[in-house]
Amino acid sequence: MSAVGPRCLSGQPAAPGVVHGRIVEIVNGAAPHVPTGAAPMSLAAAMSEAAAQLENLAASTSDANARTILEFQIEFLRDPELLEPVQDQLATDVEPAHAWITAIDVQIDDFESSADDYFRHRAADLRDLRARVLAVLAGHELGPLTLPDDAILLADDLAPSRFLATQWRPRQAIALRGGSPTAHVALLARASRVPMVVGVGPVSVPSGCTAILDGAAGTLQLAPDSTHVQEYARRKTRLDEEGRLDTSAAARPAITANGERVQVLLNISTVAELDAIDPAICDGIGLVRTELLFAHGPPDEDAQFDAYWRIVRWAAGRTVVIRTLDAGGDKPIADVTIDGETNPFLGVRGVRLSLAAPDVFKVQLRALLRAAVGGALKLMIPMVTTPDEVAQVRRMLLEARLELLSRSIPFAMPQVGIMVEVPATALALDAFDIDFASIGSNDLLQYTMAAARDNQAVSALTDPTHLGFVRLLQQIVDRAAARGISLSLCGDLAAQVQHVPLLLSAGLRSLSMPAASVGAIKRAIATWPSAE
Ligand code: PEP
Ligand code: MG
Repeated sequence: MSAVGPRCLSGQPAAPGVVHGRIVEIVNGAAPHVPTGAAPMSLAAAMSEAAAQLENLAASTSDANARTILEFQIEFLRDPELLEPVQDQLATDVEPAHAWITAIDVQIDDFESSADDYFRHRAADLRDLRARVLAVLAGHELGPLTLPDDAILLADDLAPSRFLATQWRPRQAIALRGGSPTAHVALLARASRVPMVVGVGPVSVPSGCTAILDGAAGTLQLAPDSTHVQEYARRKTRLDEEGRLDTSAAARPAITANGERVQVLLNISTVAELDAIDPAICDGIGLVRTELLFAHGPPDEDAQFDAYWRIVRWAAGRTVVIRTLDAGGDKPIADVTIDGETNPFLGVRGVRLSLAAPDVFKVQLRALLRAAVGGALKLMIPMVTTPDEVAQVRRMLLEARLELLSRSIPFAMPQVGIMVEVPATALALDAFDIDFASIGSNDLLQYTMAAARDNQAVSALTDPTHLGFVRLLQQIVDRAAARGISLSLCGDLAAQVQHVPLLLSAGLRSLSMPAASVGAIKRAIATWPSAE
C-alpha cells in the first residue's frame, strides 16, 4: 500500500543489486558522528527516532503480545501531553536528557502507584521507553536496526558502526538522502552485498511505500507500477546470471590475457566476515580495518590478539596485512577520537591519533606482535605523512617487544608498511623506512582532489581518471619499483571493474578488495590488455 504515485529519484550508485521492497525511514541513522557546530539532538527528534525504531520492531515481529507493548509505547511517545510538564525547561538551556527524565519519571511514578494492575505492569514498558530515548540522545549508544525482511531503509546518513551492528538480509537495501559512494558505510554495504543508493536528496516518503532500489543505476523508484516491476524482474535475472559468472571466476587465479599473474587480496572489517568466505578465492588479506573492531571502545590486548590470531590462522600461511587503528574522519570512536575538530578528515586521525594516545596504541602493537607468531602478518600504518611517524612506530614496536619479553609471551616481528593516502607521502615514498606500501585510493583521491569523501555534493570530483591522479599513481608505482618495495592498492578503486585497465596499465600487480568483488575483478583482469 502506498500514498504516493510512481516517482523515480536519482541518486548515486553506492552498492550494486536490485531490491523490490518497502520504505522504512529512520530519523537519525548517523547519530554517533555529530559534526562540530551542529546542534545537539533535540528531545523531539530523539522521541521521533525512538518511535521510528519501535515501529520497525513492530513491523518485524509476528508476536501479537510484543506488538501490543510496542504500540502502547509508540502511542505514549506521540501523546502531546507527555512533555507538557517540562515545556518551560525545553525553552531554556536545560539538557534534553534531563527534561526527558523529568517528564517520563512523573509518568512512571503515576503508573507504579496505580491501584490498577494493568497500569502497574505498564510501568516496566515506560522504563524501557525511558532508556530507549536516553540511548538515542546519547548518540553512540544506537544499537542494531531491526528491519522487516523487505525493508528499503531511508535515512539522512548511516553510521558505519550501526551498519555493522545490524544483521542485513538478502532482500534489504539502503537509500541515503546524503552520503557518498566512498564513505565508509558505502564500502561496508558493498562488502556485505547490501544494495545502496546515496544522495537521493531531501525527499519525504511515507514509511511502507513500495519501492524498487537499483544500487548499480543509483535510482529509487517509488510506488512502482506493473511495467517497473516487470523491468525489475528482468534486471534481477540478468544480475543473478552475472553473479553466477562472478562466482565461478572467483574460484580461479587472477591472470591477465597475456598470462601475467595478479595478486588478489581481501579487505575485511570483522573476523566474522571470514566465516562466509572461501579462502581459495584470494591470495591472502590485504587490509584489515581494525578500527571497526574498536567500534565500542578499545578492546583489551587478549581480545585483540584473539581477533588477529583468528584472521592469521584463517589465511593459513598467506599474507595478512593488518592496519593499525585508523580512527577519526568519518570513523569516530567513543573515548578515543577527538571531538570538536573543525575538519576531522584533516585532523588527528590514523597514525596521528595512535601516536597521540600511546597507551591505546601499545596494546594494539603487543597484540599484533603476538599474533605474528601464527603466520605471515604484516603491520600497516594508516594516514602516514612523515618518515618520522614510521620511525616512532618502529620505536614503539621495539618497546612492545621488550614488554612481551619481560612477560615471557611469544611474539614475532612483522614487516612494517604504510598506507599511501597523503599526496606528500606519495611524492616522497622513497624517503620512508618501510617494507611495503599499499595505496589507500579512497583517501588519496579525496586529498588529491580536495573533495571530501563523505560529501555527496563533490563526489563527482573524486575521479581516478583525472590526469593529476593518474600521474600520482604512476609515480607511486615507479618509486616503489625503484626501491624494491612491494606495492598493492586496497582502496575502493581496486573493486571498480571499469578502472582495472587503469591500475594494470600503471603497473600494479596486487589489488585488495572486498570478497564480494573478487569474481568481477578477476573477470576484468582476464580481459586486459584488450586486443585493441
Ligand atoms: C583508503 O583510504 O583507500 C583506505 C583503504 O582506507 P579507508 O577507506 O579505511 O580510509
Ligand atoms: Mg584511508
